This record gives sequence, structure tokens and C-alpha cells, in this order.
Amino acid sequence: MGLRLGVIGIGAIGKEHTLRIEKKLSRAKVVAVNDVNREHTEAFLAQHNLSAKFYESGIELIRAQDVDAILVTSWGPTHEEFVLASIAAGKYVFCEKPLAVTASGCRAIVEAEMMHGKQLVQVGFMRRFDKSYRQLKSVLDSEQLGYPLILNCAHRAPAAPGFAGDMAISDSLVHEFDVLKWLLNDDYVSAQVILPRKTRLCDDSLQDPHVVLLRTKQGVLINIESFVNAQYGYDIQCHVVCESGTAALPEPSDVMLRHDGKFTRNIIVDWQLRFIEAFDVELQEWIDATSVGRVDGPSAWDGFIVAVTADACVAAKHSGNIEPINIPERPVFYR
Ligand code: NAP
Repeated sequence: MGLRLGVIGIGAIGKEHTLRIEKKLSRAKVVAVNDVNREHTEAFLAQHNLSAKFYESGIELIRAQDVDAILVTSWGPTHEEFVLASIAAGKYVFCEKPLAVTASGCRAIVEAEMMHGKQLVQVGFMRRFDKSYRQLKSVLDSEQLGYPLILNCAHRAPAAPGFAGDMAISDSLVHEFDVLKWLLNDDYVSAQVILPRKTRLCDDSLQDPHVVLLRTKQGVLINIESFVNAQYGYDIQCHVVCESGTAALPEPSDVMLRHDGKFTRNIIVDWQLRFIEAFDVELQEWIDATSVGRVDGPSAWDGFIVAVTADACVAAKHSGNIEPINIPERPVFYR
């Protein structure tokens, strides 16, 4: 059977991860589930012929003797409580982003984990497991182009139903914040947010697009365009300018057509399709590392840094100023 997993939150991503573990991945089984909606969860289990036991509370599931490790895929504001309870139970826990909805909540998790004395927490920043980001990182790490100077990135989505306020930063750009510091082996020191002309093709209350400028400790300038109502597709770009050349994320592979006087290629529209393989790799690597008592992926410390960075970007968006990003020294525990 392998690792016996409990999943808390059987919504969109909780269902996907459960099916991924049960139907595609190896060496783990979902033996326990919890959600606020019992009826809908049991219907999902029945529909897919899954035998997991339903628990009335997430905390009860975490404490169950026959659950080895936990996936937290419930609504963001519940993550902190479930991750802290997993640490208290001494169990490995994979938490979808955000680790907690505030930087202080993330810090509390970091402190609880350090107090426990062993890393248990991984955060669901799946871009680190995407083949194209991994290819780009191996080029940068090889230093064949010298060191990086400037990153030009774009995060474009067709539409963002339900987005309000600062969600483009706190909900979407968090993936950029994690993957870019991982690509560069660096940390951020400041943020500025520039608001260009607003698109008419989104809700009046939303500011879209944004341009986020981040500066790293080593002086690299990162320019991220966030455009969540871009209409035409889900388009993730990262172009790194180095001392003696440039490196860019490859386009997702697709057939190129030459037909009827045109040269065409499809653009992915659905974010899930863009990262579907990354989700598979992310969870299989988590299962394998957990089975041998390791955390290899994004840590609680990474979740904390991302939250601090998002807060600074939100502050910069509202102040119009360059805001400092005050990231404490990485504890030895997380090196
Ligand atoms: P969702 O469809 O709303 O699913 C969340 C589920 O958790 C719902 O079934 C919800 O029930 C349930 N829930 C809420 N409070 C709970 C509690 N206290 N105990 C147990 N279950 C509870 O949301 P989602 O899209 O799956 O997102 C879930 C999390 O994953 C979010 O934090 C999101 O940011 C993250 N996520 C990450 C990625 C990624 O790219 N890595 C992608 C998608 C989502 P009700 O519906 O009845 O409230």
C-alpha cells in the first residue's frame, strides 16, 4: 500500500490530488478524507470507487493512527490550523498554497516546526517541479551564460472570475515569487508595483494589469507583468538576461501547423493543463521523500518568505513607493 495519506478539503484541487494519487502515482494510498461537506465528499468517493474513510474533523483525521501523512487542500484560512496540528502529531504534511494567509501565521508554523526539531512541511509551489522551469534552472546553475542580471517575466491568464482587491498578487503571483528566488538561489530585498493603463475587459473594481519590480540581494532586477484578464490564453513567460547570453522558458510543446497561408500553434488556455505534469511530479517526489523521512520541496521557510514578499508587493501597490522586503536570515534548520 505504501504511504497512508489523509486529505483535508475535497474541493477542486483536493479531488484532483486524490485522483492523481489513486489513479496515476505510486507508493501511496488515500485512506482518509475530510471536508465540511460530507455528502458531496461521499458522492465523490462513490463516483470513483474509492475506499477512503470519511472523518468529521480535520484534526481527528490528522490524529488517526492509520494516517501516516497529510495533504491540506482546504480553503486557505484553514491551512495554518491543520499544518500546526500535523506538526504537533509529528506527521509529514503537504500544504497547498498559501501555507497560512498571513506572514505571521507562516512564521508561527516555521517556529513550531523548528521547535519540533525536524522538517515536516512542504508547500504546494508546483512550478519547481515543472520540466521547463527545471531546464531553465539547470542552464542558470551551470553558469554557462555568466550570472543573471535581469528577469523579464509574465503571468497572463484569460480571466480571473472572483478575483478582487489584491488577489492578483496574493493568490497568483505567489507562484512567481517562489519559483524565481529558487531559479536564482537568491532572496528579495525590495518591491515596487507600477500600475499601467487598466484593461476595460475586467470587473471595474479590479486593477489589471500590474507590473511588479523586485530587486534581489545580488542586485538582479525582476520585472513581472501580471495580467489576469488577458483573454487569449494562460501564458507564463520567463526570460533571463545573463552576462553573455539569454535563456527563456521553452513554450509548452505543441504541433506547429503550416496551413492555408498561415504558420500556427495553439496557446494553452487552462492553467491546470500548463502545470498538469508538474503536479504529478510534485506529489510523486513528495511521496517518495516522505517515505524515507525527508522534505525535499518548498519548505515552511519558503512559504514564509513568499508571504513576506506578497505583503511588501501589496504595500508597494498602495503606496506607489519602493518598499523594503525584510526577510530574516535563513535559519540553519532550513539550509
Ligand atoms: P475549493 O474548490 O473551494 O476547495 C476547498 C475545499 O475545502 C471545499 O470543498 C471546502 O468546502 C473545503 N473546506 C473549507 N473549509 C474546510 C474545513 N475547515 N475543513 C475541511 N474542509 C474545508 O478550493 P480549491 O480551488 O480546491 O483550492 C484549495 C486550496 O488549494 C487553496 O488554498 C488554493 O489556493 C490552493 N490551490 C493551489 C493551486 C496551485 O496552483 N498550487 C491550484 C488550485 C488551488 P466548501 O466548498 O463547502 O467550503
